[in-house]
Amino acid sequence: MAESSRRRLLATYPAEYLVCRDLTHSWRPYAVENEDGGLWRQVVICASCGQLKDRLIRRRTGAVIRNWAIRYVKGYQIAGGLLDADERNEIRRLAISQVSS
Ligand SMILES: [Zn+2]
Repeated sequence: MAESSRRRLLATYPAEYLVCRDLTHSWRPYAVENEDGGLWRQVVICASCGQLKDRLIRRRTGAVIRNWAIRYVKGYQIAGGLLDADERNEIRRLAISQVSS
């Protein structure tokens, strides 16, 4: 993806995700589901943006069987791969300017 189109994309990036992009998500317990094979599916939710992720835990031992899998909310992901340093700077600038006067 061309640099200029990524910049345009960031300019319209949903405001509710900017803080999570800048400071990372604020995960909180959300649900625990019983799974076959003596497993729990532990689900956590981001208190800021509502994103969910889950992992599989063996009930008897507490061992992690499958690590976190993120369930991306619509509009969170940015096409074109990882953000570069300038793009992360822009996310930070936009996130801070939301709350500064
Ligand atoms: Zn979040």
